[in-house]
Amino acid sequence: MSRIKKKKKKKKIFELYSQNLKWIKEKTNAKFKTEFEYGVLCPLCLEVFLESDLLISDKNHLTLEHNPPKSLGGKDNILTCKECNNKSGHKTDVELLTYILEQEFKNFSPNSKHRTELISNEGAKVTADLSFDDKGKMTVNLQDKYSNPKDFKKFIDSEEKGFFPIEGEIGKFATKKLNFNMNLPDKGNMRLASIALLKIGYLMGFEKFGHIFLFNQNLDQIREQILNPEKEIIIDPFWINFEFPEMFVGVNIINKPTELNCFLNTFVLKTKSRNGQISIAFPGYNKEGLVIYKNIKKILCSDNDETVNLEITTLEPFLDLRDENRVFSSAYIWDKKASTQ
Ligand SMILES: [Zn+2]
Repeated sequence: MSRIKKKKKKKKIFELYSQNLKWIKEKTNAKFKTEFEYGVLCPLCLEVFLESDLLISDKNHLTLEHNPPKSLGGKDNILTCKECNNKSGHKTDVELLTYILEQEFKNFSPNSKHRTELISNEGAKVTADLSFDDKGKMTVNLQDKYSNPKDFKKFIDSEEKGFFPIEGEIGKFATKKLNFNMNLPDKGNMRLASIALLKIGYLMGFEKFGHIFLFNQNLDQIREQILNPEKEIIIDPFWINFEFPEMFVGVNIINKPTELNCFLNTFVLKTKSRNGQISIAFPGYNKEGLVIYKNIKKILCSDNDETVNLEITTLEPFLDLRDENRVFSSAYIWDKKASTQ
């Protein structure tokens, strides 16, 4: 995106969200550190940013944030401050991408690739890039540049039995069949990858509900966890392992069972191989803190074979940030759902 286009896009998002915050200020007694008419909150640190903070300057300013990360098919529809963007962003996002690609490779998904180490029966180790094309055909490219020359020769000269036909760029070895063990290193850090998912779900809540999503003290610890991915703040599972019908991609409320009453933000991560659906739970506005995650563990992760019937409402049709009457919809729908139980 050109700089001018990017600038325009940032301004448009600022206008939408600052109007959203203005409506909330007018209808509630929400207090802020500074007086302002048009401003937005960074969804992660909750600091106020004004239109002048759209300009790239030495001090902290607003940045366009891709959510989900661009590498996983996300779009840049929200603003976060540069400090939070740096703090919460790159490391966990990289871990997430690494983890997902690695899982795909292990599942032999089409269009996945992986650098790995191959070991011959005689113990010679070489570095190789393995890839699967869109039909799932595997290609092995031995990387002599990244291998010990002696080992590389030994590997190539090793016995011509085995199960992997070698093809691809290493043309002259194309007819050889080598026998080796495949060693896929676990590069991805699952914990950091899961924090990246928590962040995607959280920012999605802000994108869709606007600022009212942030005015929920149960989310304080979630923000703290996102900004400190290395810390163990939320230990219980915050995702729901279930592939929901497509109409639930977006923001939802789980109504039943009541112990699982929560917001459920469902999104799709896209790689070359596939689209994967992820659902992250967030506590509602009642003052129960993070008890929802304990309940997810208790009810959905238990070993008994009892099936749990989830009743879910999609909120997509009720949300529109451009509509003043819908500014409070998440809080309103939450209240309504909570009071009908
Ligand atoms: Zn921030």
